Amino acid sequence: PMPRTLITGGAGFLGSHLCDRFIKEGHEVICMDNLVTGDTENIEHLFELGQERFRFVKYDVTDYIHVNGDLDYVLHFASPASPADYLRLPIQTLKVGALGTHKALGLAKAKDARLLLASTSEVYGDPLTHPQSEDYWGNVNPIGQRGVYDEAKRFAEALTMAYHRYHGVETRIVRIFNTYGPRMRIDDGRALPTFMAQALQGDPLTVYGDGSQTRSFCYVDDLVEGIYRLLLSDVTEPVNIGNADEVTIKEFAEEIIDLTGSDSTITHEPLPEDDPQVRQPDISRAHEELGWTPTVDRRDGLKKTLDYFKSAVEKKQHRDETGQDGEDTSRVGMDDAGDGEAVSPAATNRS
Ligand code: UDP
Repeated sequence: PMPRTLITGGAGFLGSHLCDRFIKEGHEVICMDNLVTGDTENIEHLFELGQERFRFVKYDVTDYIHVNGDLDYVLHFASPASPADYLRLPIQTLKVGALGTHKALGLAKAKDARLLLASTSEVYGDPLTHPQSEDYWGNVNPIGQRGVYDEAKRFAEALTMAYHRYHGVETRIVRIFNTYGPRMRIDDGRALPTFMAQALQGDPLTVYGDGSQTRSFCYVDDLVEGIYRLLLSDVTEPVNIGNADEVTIKEFAEEIIDLTGSDSTITHEPLPEDDPQVRQPDISRAHEELGWTPTVDRRDGLKKTLDYFKSAVEKKQHRDETGQDGEDTSRVGMDDAGDGEAVSPAATNRS
């Protein structure tokens, strides 16, 4: 029988790539998103590709979720995920990590489905050990501006383990490190989209602080492969998925200037509060338990991503010139089910 999979946050950057993968693997996919940071443009092609197997439901997962019929897998990916977004949406970020995870787990329990939680390297905070392995408990400021995301995800992990231990729900936890690729929002405020857009427009690249802080960037296809393997594995402990190739943000900015052939310069702006000084995943657990290791190096990944950002910058310039607010997405099957009523995916298929 065809596996049936619910992906919350399915219209976002990672969620939409997961929708692609699960459609390709032959699943029936229900994509749920309230479109606060997601965009139906990311999934529009799936209505053709997935046809009857792909549905979109516009819904806020912090409300009680009802899905008709069986479910085999629930992938909980709904959340604002860039520092700029969760600064702008602090309460929503806390709610989706806490209440949204609770609803997703309740659904998984009711359907006897396996749930995979999208957690994050942010559970390690500004880490005091380097690189970060899964047994490090982290260094998080609960009342800092990033705390809304970090603590929501830490709570989500605790709740997931409680459902696993107390209710016997099958659960998986992926700790996602910095990931990049096509469909990142050009204005999500993260280093890569910001630098790409600035380089392509000839503006100075805004490096926060002196740029000596490090990150380790993983190409999205590698991440999706790791998540897919984790879901099908029997590993219930959290697993880091990311690329261990570490770079300073200053070097990263220079690489992007170089790659785009831009004559942009670098300018420095203040470092945001609690900005982690270093970040690099220890991925030995993923390697040992899942046989997974990333395959795309940064140069190649950035090249693939550049094509996407070139067209995203053109679209943005067009919007700025014409004063239009993005594309009309209302023609996509987007029946609004945000009224708390039972949602039947069958009834919300593309009309
Ligand atoms: N950063 C930067 N300039 C920008 C955006 C981000 O220098 O325009 C820095 C940010 O301070 C952080 C790193 O780049 O040290 C990565 O930030 P991002 O927002 O991409 O994600 P994070 O890893 O902090 O969650």
